[in-house]
Amino acid sequence: MVLRINQAQREAICQHGARDYPSECCGVLLGDVNGELKHVRDAVALKNLRHDVNQAQELLPVDDPARETERNRFLIDPLDQLRVEKEARARGLEVLGYYHSHPDHPARPSAYDREHAWPWYSYVIVSVERGIAKDLTCWALAEEGGMFLPEAVEVVG
Ligand SMILES: [Zn+2]
Repeated sequence: MVLRINQAQREAICQHGARDYPSECCGVLLGDVNGELKHVRDAVALKNLRHDVNQAQELLPVDDPARETERNRFLIDPLDQLRVEKEARARGLEVLGYYHSHPDHPARPSAYDREHAWPWYSYVIVSVERGIAKDLTCWALAEEGGMFLPEAVEVVG
C-alpha cells in the first residue's frame, strides 16, 4: 500500500517530534482507503502516556521502567484512542496508522515497535536529532513473518 500525506501533515508530524524532544511524540493518522492507497486526511497529535510511569506500567508494563521511558517508548492512552476512533467515525474516516518520533535515533522501527504493531496499519516514524526533525519513514508489517517492511509515502501539495 501507499500512504499519501500532504506537506502540511508531514510538517505537523515533524514539528510535533521537535516540540516533544527529547521525549517520543505520538499520534494517529486518520483518512480513507482507496484500493492500494491510504489517504491521510488528518494527523492527530496525542499525548505519550509513558510520561506517567505509574499509569503506563499499569496499562502496558515494560521490563525496565527506569530505562524504558517516554524518551524511547510511547504509549497511547486507551481513552484517547477511543475518543479519536469515535471522532473519526463521525467524520467518515478510519484509523490508517500511527506516528511516533525517535529522539536521537534513526527512523527505523525498534524490536519493541514491531512487537507492538498490528497488521495492516501504517507506522510512520520521524527521527529527531538534537531537537531537529530529520527523516520520516513509514512501515507496515509483512503479511507473513511479522517483519516490518518499508511502506511508500507519497507527499502531495
Ligand atoms: Zn519506535
